[in-house]
Amino acid sequence: MVEIRLTNTRTRRKEVFAPLDPANVRLYLCGPTVYDRAHLGNARPTLVFDVLVRLLRHLHGADHVTYVRNITDVDDKINAEAQRRKRLGSPLSLEDLIAERAEETIAWYRADMAALGAAPPDHEPRATEYIPQMIAMIETLIARGHAYAAEGHVLFDVRSFPDYGKLSGRSVDDMIAGARVEVAPFKRDPMDFVLWKPSDDDLPGWDSPWGRGRPGWHIECSAMSEALLGPSFDIHGGGIDLQFPHHENEVAQSCCAHPQASFAQVWLHNEMLQVEGKKMSKSLGNFFTVRDLLDRGVPGEVIRFVMLSTHYRKPMDWTETKRAEAEAVLRRWRGGGGGGVGSRRASSPPRARRPPSSPRWPTT
Ligand SMILES: [Zn+2]
Repeated sequence: MVEIRLTNTRTRRKEVFAPLDPANVRLYLCGPTVYDRAHLGNARPTLVFDVLVRLLRHLHGADHVTYVRNITDVDDKINAEAQRRKRLGSPLSLEDLIAERAEETIAWYRADMAALGAAPPDHEPRATEYIPQMIAMIETLIARGHAYAAEGHVLFDVRSFPDYGKLSGRSVDDMIAGARVEVAPFKRDPMDFVLWKPSDDDLPGWDSPWGRGRPGWHIECSAMSEALLGPSFDIHGGGIDLQFPHHENEVAQSCCAHPQASFAQVWLHNEMLQVEGKKMSKSLGNFFTVRDLLDRGVPGEVIRFVMLSTHYRKPMDWTETKRAEAEAVLRRWRGGGGGGVGSRRASSPPRARRPPSSPRWPTT
C-alpha cells in the first residue's frame, strides 16, 4: 500500500500514517461556526481535508473512512445576530431567530463548499444536538478533579493536567505572561477555561446540574468527536489559528475524561490565508466570502485549484494573478476549448493530456 506521511503537530515530526483500525480510519475537522457566510480562509481546511479524505478512501476503501466535520451552532455571534433581528421588530422568538440564522448559514456553507468540489462529511453533528453528551463529559471532569463549578460556570482546572500546553508548545506560566486572558474572580487560575456558562433569559440555554446555561466552544468538539469516533481516533485537523486555545483545550478535556484513551493520534494544522500579501480583514477592505468570488464569476474549481496549489502548511496568498493563471491552466487541461473554465459541455469532454506547464503539486 502507498505510504502516507503526515506532519503531526503533536509530535512535531513527519510520520508514516498508521491508522488505529485500517477498516475504519477516523477523522475529525473543526467545522464552521454558523453565524455568517464562509470567508475564503474558512474554505482552506475544508479543501485540505477533502483531498486527504479522498486519498484515504482511495487507499482504504470508500466505506472504511469516517469523516466528521461539526457545526458550531451555539455561539455568541449567532445570538447577537438573532438579538439584532429581534430589535428590528421580528415577531419570531429569540430561539426561533437563532435557529433561523443557523439554518440559513448551514445551507450557505453546504452550497459554497459543494461549489468548491468538497464532498460532504459522513457526519455533520450540530452542537445543539449533543448537549447531554457535553454535560456528561463535564460531570466526568468534575468527578475526576479536573473541573470545578463556580457561580453558574464550570471551569477546567489547567493546573490539574500536566500536559497542558504541549500541543501548542507553551507553558502555562508563559501563557499567563503573554496572553490576554479573561480574569474572573471565580477562576482559580487565569488560564482556566469555561466548560459551561450561565445563560440569562435573552440567551439560549439548557438545564444542567449547574443551572440553565450553555456549553463553552471547546467542550463541543470533545463531546462530538467522542460520540461519533470514540475516545481515540486517527486524525484531527483545523486551521493553525485553532491550535491554541481551542485544540489545546480539546486535548485537555478529552484526555482527562478518558485517561486510558489517546484522543487524536495525528494533529494536522493548515496555515492561514492572505489576500494580495495582506491579512484578510474587513478594515483593509480585502475581506471576501467564497460566495462573493462565485458571484463575481470565479468558478469553484478555480478557487479549489488556487487553494490546493499552495502547500497546506504554507501561508496561502490569494492573488488576482493566481486566479488568472489557474483559469488558464484549467482551460489548457480541457484542451483549449472555447467553453471557458467551469463549463462542462457534453460535446467537448476534457482530455487526459497534461501540458508540460502543469504546476507541480505539493507533496504532503
Ligand atoms: Zn473544534
